[in-house]
Amino acid sequence: MIGILGGTFDPIHLGHLRLAEEVREALDLVQVRFVPAYQPPHRRAPVASAEHRLAMVEAALADNPHFCVDTREYTRGGASWMVDTCTSLREEFGERPLVLMMGMDAFNGFTRWREWQRILELVHLAIATRPGARAEDEAAELLAARSCPTHLLECAPVGRIVEVPMTALDISATHIRELSACGRSTRYLLPKPVQEYLTEHPLY
Ligand code: ATP
Repeated sequence: MIGILGGTFDPIHLGHLRLAEEVREALDLVQVRFVPAYQPPHRRAPVASAEHRLAMVEAALADNPHFCVDTREYTRGGASWMVDTCTSLREEFGERPLVLMMGMDAFNGFTRWREWQRILELVHLAIATRPGARAEDEAAELLAARSCPTHLLECAPVGRIVEVPMTALDISATHIRELSACGRSTRYLLPKPVQEYLTEHPLY
């Protein structure tokens, strides 16, 4: 199975990497593809350009043979709808099971994503959870209907949802940008190559 982690990565931080690593290990994924959004449609425009965000993801992943950068949203340009990305991944990977991973905060907005039902015809979902994080409202109903134990995920081609408990790391790109903007240290929240990139290019 191949994992997919979409995000704005403005910048990529240790929370993203740990999410990918813990889901990869729990589901025995052969690869996790990080897909930086060119233009995220559901939120404010990123602070850093797509080029800089992509360069930081490349720097962050360089030493992990299981992780790779997937530039299809960047190459496609325009609004980065996840349904388009999943359609394109499905065309490339044929029958291989694909698992779209996300934190519970993102999953709670999932039923507002464009053509979310179509996304579930293309991939499985893995939701990284931590104690106290709960699916709410429509997301909770969807989870109840599609929930699947981890070891049975491979039995269905698409459309199942697994929850993967994850180490809680209260790190967000928003907080990193805020710290940076007031000249405070962001050391140990970011992978070292990203820290170095930001020393060379003070983006925030
Ligand atoms: P921002 O603060 O700018 O909104 P972010 O830190 O939440 O950014 P995104 O790029 O928007 O990062 O998130 C991409 C994915 O990573 C989402 O599925 C989100 O749930 C997940 N994620 C982000 N931070 C963490 C974290 N600390 N632990 C687990 N998952 C995370």
